[in-house]
Amino acid sequence: MKALSRFCLLLSVLLIPALTYAQQNFLDITKYEVYYGWAHNYPQDWIVLRRFENRNKEYYLLVNPQTLQTRVNESSFYQVKPMTLAETRAAFKNTPYEKAIRKAEKQSASIQDAGIERGIPTEAGISLTADLCPSHKPLDRRIFTTMFTEFKKVEKPAPIALSVSGLWMLNHKEDLEWLKQLRNEGEIRITWVNHSYNHRVSKTAPLKENFLLEPGTNIEYEVLATEQLMLKNGLVPSAFFRFPGLVSDQQLVYKVTDFGLIPIGSDAWLAKGQQPNAGSIVLIHGNGNEPVGVEDFIKLLRSKTKQIAKKQWLLYDLSESVDDAAESSE
Ligand SMILES: [Zn+2]
Repeated sequence: MKALSRFCLLLSVLLIPALTYAQQNFLDITKYEVYYGWAHNYPQDWIVLRRFENRNKEYYLLVNPQTLQTRVNESSFYQVKPMTLAETRAAFKNTPYEKAIRKAEKQSASIQDAGIERGIPTEAGISLTADLCPSHKPLDRRIFTTMFTEFKKVEKPAPIALSVSGLWMLNHKEDLEWLKQLRNEGEIRITWVNHSYNHRVSKTAPLKENFLLEPGTNIEYEVLATEQLMLKNGLVPSAFFRFPGLVSDQQLVYKVTDFGLIPIGSDAWLAKGQQPNAGSIVLIHGNGNEPVGVEDFIKLLRSKTKQIAKKQWLLYDLSESVDDAAESSE
């Protein structure tokens, strides 16, 4: 009997982390909609961003306004006060989440690299973001294998933000499963960033009519269809959005923040020769189309091996960096 209870205890200790990492695949989503509300859930209140149904149960996608972390949960677990967007923004005005949204809106005028593009310089290290734009090539797995090698004794799971497009998810099932396996094994911690569904791009159109600025773009579809495909694949959408090509205009930035999402730029797109500094949000492409950027990232990590070993140079969770940047800007 004693042995059995010990076995059960062991089993539960082993299973709890697995359950925390694993995320349900929502295969039958209906009534997916933007929905704002104040979710009371002692000791931390959450903001509801979306509501949907799956197999006769109702769910929310929620964001923690202090940490910017998101979660999906059954609506019955919360007591919710429905609110308009304006009411939500007013009620949570002083939280890091709303501050980050305002900071992104302030940096919305330029055609490229709007939104939050760096953390704070006192962060000794960087936030890594890798974009998964539609591609016929396989995932560049060197990014992940190098991360383990360098960080396995120091930072486990190592954080990475993956900006994922709908078309990449549709065409790279095996790569996606591989990533989820790494996540489930606790090797990496992934923040899933919305990178639009179609990620259209023209080789000839000027930037002001390119990417999501292409005439006829349905931004609601680009945002919400990507989120639903993430949920179907067992990924929790974060509160972040990355513009394809980092291209946007002011109107588009406001459309995205109206979905409760924080646009994320980059001050260090490695393949373009931009050098990372302390607190940088580094951009590389994980979709096989920009091997030069990945090689630069590998060189960067190798040049920091000694500092990494002493924990003097680390990878930061994107939520932490954006949180700190928002707090320091007001
Ligand atoms: Zn892209």
